[in-house]
Amino acid sequence: MLPERFEYQRASSVDDAISRLSRLGDGAKLLAGGHSLIPLMKLRLVTPGVVVDIGRLSELRYIHDAGDHIAIGSLTRHYDLQCSKVLQREVPLLAYVAGLVGDPPVRHRGTIGGSLAHGDPASDLPAAVMALDGRLVVSGSHGKRTLAATDFFRGFWETALTPEEVLTEVQIPKGAAGWAYEKFTRRAFDWAIVGVAVVVTGTTSVQVALANVGPATVRASATEQALRDGASPAEAAGRAVEGLSPSSDVNASSEYRAHLAVVLTGRALERALA
Ligand code: FAD
Repeated sequence: MLPERFEYQRASSVDDAISRLSRLGDGAKLLAGGHSLIPLMKLRLVTPGVVVDIGRLSELRYIHDAGDHIAIGSLTRHYDLQCSKVLQREVPLLAYVAGLVGDPPVRHRGTIGGSLAHGDPASDLPAAVMALDGRLVVSGSHGKRTLAATDFFRGFWETALTPEEVLTEVQIPKGAAGWAYEKFTRRAFDWAIVGVAVVVTGTTSVQVALANVGPATVRASATEQALRDGASPAEAAGRAVEGLSPSSDVNASSEYRAHLAVVLTGRALERALA
């Protein structure tokens, strides 16, 4: 299918993108790698009047060691994350998860900023960034703000971004003692039917984030609390969907998703805590 008619504009800098968005309001959409936006436009699920292309802004494509954290520009592609020596050394979970996103064409075009800003609960990188206690730097006409990943994902395709804001940087704290990501798919290049990211930062400090269990990426808070209270990994995994309502779709019923979340959380905890 062809998208609705739209105007194409190319931003020359982050500031230029912000001023265009401020002028155009919610009739405009940023274009990064285009691997989520363009399919939605073709299906006419999203019909922006103007598309503002930021895909060539090299100032937003970097991975830096910033001391206590790794700073990643929002236009860094999945393939760059997968191959980054800095990430493989300091935040291996993120490099590993980037290598599980789609297939090589998707990883060469898709960006970490696009993946997070899109707010699809089935995406892999939001779960990894949330388990890693990542921070998201967002710039708009009123200046910059930094949000915890746990406050960023609000619902299905819904984030804390306002229509005139650009996600510019993702900051990932260093120093995890253990990690694991379990992704269940029917075919290797598919989105997760359920994904579970686990990061261990201390003896009882474990972060667990779930992909595609509900309308937004979420932390498995009951599992995390159970571990803090001294439960075994198996007992804690059993509480993975406590307080959540796993969604139902063509790939999995709610009950099946809940079961998968428990099984995959158990496996991920076992590996991360080994
Ligand atoms: P775009 O499509 O350009 O943009 C997506 C949305 O984010 C748009 O609303 C856009 O306006 C907004 N946006 C983009 N950048 C910014 C920014 N810096 N600031 C504010 N808003 C911004 N993902 C997975 O996680 N796992 C998978 O297994 C997977 N498989 C895929 C398979 C296929 C065949 C395809 C086509 C995609 C797949 N994806 C998968 C999605 C892929 O990772 C996308 O690249 C990603 O979701 C979006 O990144 P993008 O750079 O392409 O963003």
